[in-house]
Parts: sequence; C-alpha cells; structure tokens
Amino acid sequence: MAKYSSKINKIRTFALSLIFIGFIVMYIGIFFRTSPLVMTIFMLLGMLFIIASTVTYFWIGMLSTKSVQVVCPNCQRHTKVLGRVDMCMYCNEPLTLDPKLEGIEFDEKYNRKVKNT
Ligand SMILES: [Zn+2]
Repeated sequence: MAKYSSKINKIRTFALSLIFIGFIVMYIGIFFRTSPLVMTIFMLLGMLFIIASTVTYFWIGMLSTKSVQVVCPNCQRHTKVLGRVDMCMYCNEPLTLDPKLEGIEFDEKYNRKVKNT
C-alpha cells in the first residue's frame, strides 16, 4: 500500500532533500580542487540546488496561506488542508473539504480535476 502524507509535508521533505543534494554536489566539487573549472561548475550546481530549495520553501509559504486550517478529528491538532483531500500533518488522518467524499476511502486521485461536471 502506498504511504500517503500531507502535501505540505511532502513539499517540505522535497525542499530539505534539495538542500542535501546541493551540499553533496558542492562536497563532490572539493574533490576536483585540482581543476578550478570543474570545481566551479560543481559549486554553481550545488548553489542552484540550494536556491531551488529556497524557492520551494517560499512556495510552501504561499501554499500555506491558500490552505484551509482545520482541527483534525483524530488527534485534535490544527492542520492544513490543501485541495479537496489531504492528510493530517501530524497523524496522517485523511481529511476532506468535500462533504461528498466524506467516509469514502482516501484516494489522492480526488485531487485531480473532475471533467464531466
Ligand atoms: Zn491528526
């Protein structure tokens, strides 16, 4: 079974991994210190990953303002819902803003645009 997690958490994980990739790429660059050109390329590449991560964090901030804050019925904590269905950020309880989907088993496909409406 696929492991679901809250969208904001997913993006956060993505942004964090970008930082790690950036540092790893820069670290690899150190091994090429005999060749300043290759080292510069690696450093710039690493910088790009870190910039991309910063942009992603900024994007999370933008998304957070658009998301709806709800109290999770399972753990009673405040969590953010993005789109029609999302998971609780703390306990991964499936949450929906659409009453039609209430009680239906969680499926990320409900987030796709419904065509024949
Ligand atoms: Zn919860």
